[in-house]
Amino acid sequence: GYRSRAAYKLTDIADRFGLLKPGQRVIDLGAAPGGWTQVALERGVTRIAGVDLLPVEPLPPAILIQADFTDPDVGDQLVEALGGPPDLVMSDMAPNTVGHRRTDHLRIVGLIDAAVDFAEAVLPPGGAFVAKAFQGGEISEVITRLKRSFAHVRNVKPPASRADSSETYLVATGFRGHPAAGLA
Ligand code: SAM
Repeated sequence: GYRSRAAYKLTDIADRFGLLKPGQRVIDLGAAPGGWTQVALERGVTRIAGVDLLPVEPLPPAILIQADFTDPDVGDQLVEALGGPPDLVMSDMAPNTVGHRRTDHLRIVGLIDAAVDFAEAVLPPGGAFVAKAFQGGEISEVITRLKRSFAHVRNVKPPASRADSSETYLVATGFRGHPAAGLA
């Protein structure tokens, strides 16, 4: 069985958008307790590196580190563990909420922005990005930003996501690559 209900959300998204193919490299941000990594492994992804603030019970051959993704060196560590650039960066990270609406919203957006920064820095052209988001103010700015660097951007609510939660997932495919790469 899966370690999380979230596994079913990734299953929906992967089926719908053709993500997680055998032989791909994948990065899993906010990996605990390991449900998304389980789904990726089940689909033949063997090169997967993940991070979480919490420890994750081992899921070999996945490399799972316990750290704060927003710490400066963690992104490099993940790519190094993977042995090359990822085909997919996926984030199910959600910050602990403090109950103060504005603070919580800024933390959520900060975490998504950090994941987008990372994805744009490490993905090769054609790469994909999936991130949990929450309906509200600044999500449209994240979408606008993603549309500049990915060919296709969707904001989806997987059937497995509770209808009464404001959670959605941003799915961006067809990374256009870094602007400088096309010049030379
Ligand atoms: N996708 C996971 C699964 O299927 O098992 C569930 C992930 S859970 C919804 C969100 C996770 O994000 C939590 O385990 C939390 O510790 C992690 N998280 C939140 N902020 C983080 C950060 N700054 N760095 C790393 N992990 C973080």
